[in-house]
Amino acid sequence: MINLILFGKPGSGKGTQAEFIKKKYDLIHISTGDVFRYNISKQTDLGLLAKSYMEKGDLVPDNVTIQMLEAEVNKTPNAKGFIFDGFPRTTLQAEMLDEFLNSKNLSISMIIALEVDENILIDRLINRGIASGRADDQDRSKIQNRFEEYNKKTSTLINYYKSQNKFFEVEGNGEIDEISQRLFNVIDLIIK
Ligand code: AMP
Repeated sequence: MINLILFGKPGSGKGTQAEFIKKKYDLIHISTGDVFRYNISKQTDLGLLAKSYMEKGDLVPDNVTIQMLEAEVNKTPNAKGFIFDGFPRTTLQAEMLDEFLNSKNLSISMIIALEVDENILIDRLINRGIASGRADDQDRSKIQNRFEEYNKKTSTLINYYKSQNKFFEVEGNGEIDEISQRLFNVIDLIIK
């Protein structure tokens, strides 16, 4: 089983690349942001709770996010593996994910970070916001807050996974299919 974490700042291309990886390796793609947005659109209790945090660009509390992630994984017990996109984002989430996977005799295979300059990301997010209508992509102060949340709470996870020898970096600037190929090359390191 291959269990991948796609890592990177908002707008770094995790969602786009996850779709290509999913097709090539037959994996289940779980994007916590997408699950929250789906719940907001359906006005579920989870959606109502998540909305106030997401609107500001703050992280949704760990306990809520972890429970949701576990429920998503449990939906496909026969999966060949998972791509976690946007999760974990805090040390507690990373620890809980390890514990949860261990309880199923599974583990994280690798974590791949997409590296893109912040200036490029801001332009990408603003354009994505115009195309999709996503409120948190359209406002520079919300985007800045998401980068700050990443720098404060998420970037420390790099050391967590480096200490397990599972951390890889990929240049996230360039053509979409070039970046996919770079990712495939890294993933193939653990398959062969
Ligand atoms: P994304 O689509 O990954 O950029 O996520 C959009 C928003 O969803 C984030 O700014 C957070 O408010 C929330 N979110 C997504 N994943 C997580 C997570 N793992 N932990 C906490 N909040 C999250």
